[in-house]
Amino acid sequence: MKKLLISILFLVTFVSMMHVSGLFRLSQMFDHANATFVSQERLPIIDTHVHYNTPAWEVYPPDAIINLLKKSGVVKALVSSTPDEGTRMLYKEDPERIIPFLRPYHDDINSSNWYLKDQVFPYTLKRLEMPIYKGIGEFHIHNHIDTDSPIIQKTVRLAVERDLYIHVHSDHRAVETIFSYEPKVKILWAHAGMSDPPDVISSMFDRHKNLWVDISIREHEIAPNEKLAPEWEKLFLKHADRITIGSDTWINAQWDNYEAIIAFDRKWLAQLPDDVARQIAFENAKRLFDR
Ligand SMILES: [Zn+2]
Repeated sequence: MKKLLISILFLVTFVSMMHVSGLFRLSQMFDHANATFVSQERLPIIDTHVHYNTPAWEVYPPDAIINLLKKSGVVKALVSSTPDEGTRMLYKEDPERIIPFLRPYHDDINSSNWYLKDQVFPYTLKRLEMPIYKGIGEFHIHNHIDTDSPIIQKTVRLAVERDLYIHVHSDHRAVETIFSYEPKVKILWAHAGMSDPPDVISSMFDRHKNLWVDISIREHEIAPNEKLAPEWEKLFLKHADRITIGSDTWINAQWDNYEAIIAFDRKWLAQLPDDVARQIAFENAKRLFDR
């Protein structure tokens, strides 16, 4: 009797274990099917203008940022931060997803004074000893007449020597000056010049083969009321291989709004021919930075 009871108990346990594991497999299959469906539905994005600055660290810890990228279908992100430690924190969390750029700002060194401070260049060299960086920047040149300053020239030369990109926030005149003293440098031009119009961007592309742009902050100019503006459409069709998506998470409000920013970009991308949309969404950034 006791033996029979033990056998029945054993059988029941065995059957229920099979049942549970079967259910588990079924739910895994369901998840997988769901993921495949989602990835076919949404255009993958590589976000080439991300910052993870100090004020974001507590509100959005590294794992929360990575989850936000995943949720938004952002397969990779080009990150630079004030201070650079933020970039390293995200890289540590997900080295496959994060493309680190080295930003020189830290302590009292900021976008307005970095090119005047002697300690910036040694700091840059020191940080680059960690061999994770694909570029230097995003840095600002608020006034194009400063582009000739020795620290900016040295930084640009260093980028060429190390085969790094520079991510530059400036107008087209500063970009012209940089190319005049270092024609070989590869520039990711932040915000496509911020205020330079599409025809100026287009002529910059015609003159400089090592120039690419991210369109961060300009999405509502590109697609007022979600409808792609004709002058931007013309630029995208003519120079589809030079343009990348960017969000610019320079303040926490941009992180609060992150999914909406990326979703908005997908709306105007959908109004372009498929191959052009794919280049701008992720193929260009993958070719340039994911090597
Ligand atoms: Zn920025």
